Amino acid sequence: MRITVLSGGIGGATFVRGLLDEVDGADVTVVGNTADDIWLFGLKVCPDLDTLMYTLGGGIDPERRWGRADETWSVKEELAAYGAQPTWFGLGDRDVATHLVRTQMLAAGYALSDVTRALCVRWEPGVTLLPMTDDRVETHVVVDDNGQRSAIHFQEYWVRHRAAIPAHDVVMIGIDDAKPAPGVVEAIAAADVVIVPPSNPVVSVGPILAVPGVTEALRATTAPVVGVSPIIGTGAVRGMADQLLTALGVEVSAGAVGARYGARAAGGVLDGWLVDTSDASQLPALEAAGLAARAVPLYMTDPTTTRTLAADTLALAREIGDAR
Ligand code: GDP
Ligand code: CA
Repeated sequence: MRITVLSGGIGGATFVRGLLDEVDGADVTVVGNTADDIWLFGLKVCPDLDTLMYTLGGGIDPERRWGRADETWSVKEELAAYGAQPTWFGLGDRDVATHLVRTQMLAAGYALSDVTRALCVRWEPGVTLLPMTDDRVETHVVVDDNGQRSAIHFQEYWVRHRAAIPAHDVVMIGIDDAKPAPGVVEAIAAADVVIVPPSNPVVSVGPILAVPGVTEALRATTAPVVGVSPIIGTGAVRGMADQLLTALGVEVSAGAVGARYGARAAGGVLDGWLVDTSDASQLPALEAAGLAARAVPLYMTDPTTTRTLAADTLALAREIGDAR
């Protein structure tokens, strides 16, 4: 079975871990968001690709759920001692080695997809990990900072301000000229199942869908496309996705996020959508919008619940496939 997943960092990586437990032997391709990427101190940092690579390859810090296990912070402290900006980004010593290898390869002329493949030789994540694009794309958030309206890099909004300043809009710089990385469109076209995991709909899945050609590939694939809500009740399960939905004028609910992705039959990108059992009241509206919607437990609290969620996702895809 060939499965393609369109993923952000923590939510997507956690889901894929459970998926690999469930589908021993499947051919899984993960298309990772790269619009969070940032250049810092001359280094190219790819937070979502690294969270995927470290989580699936066994190198992740299990508490933070980003960056390396057994991390130390000498480089960060030394940079701060020089007064070097920014000081708010978590740049761990072990992690820096990844960024050094990546940056060196990019400087030598390799594409980000080549670099990602090379880094994965070490981590053996058990999936084919592809960046959504090899081109530079950056999410910026339009905010009010001390009464001044300005656009700041998503990482500055998220990590420095902890999403606690008013956000008015989200813009993806470079997206219109970006091309899907080699293999992305092919992985969607050749898949038996395409999954949108519980990743941030605005800044993780949103940029992937906005790369010209990706939404078209989703609309054209013969595979069922199923998604899992990152919203339970009226908030993001973990993280701060709710502020950004509000900035875009989208109600914070599993139903509204599913409706925003939309049914393929009605010009959207999904066939099926999973909401939490506590949100079952939203199923009729989703069905009316053309989505095959089901309510199942969506909390990925441990390996068992995460694997069960992956199984429920595949079951919905199978049901959609069988109904055709
Ligand atoms: P990021 O790039 O690290 O922010 O990670 P993602 O975009 O892949 O995932 C972030 C989203 O994961 C957040 O919006 C959370 O609501 C969601 N999330 C985290 N844990 C869970 C969980 O246990 N269940 C569900 N359904 N969503 C989760
Ligand atoms: Ca991210």
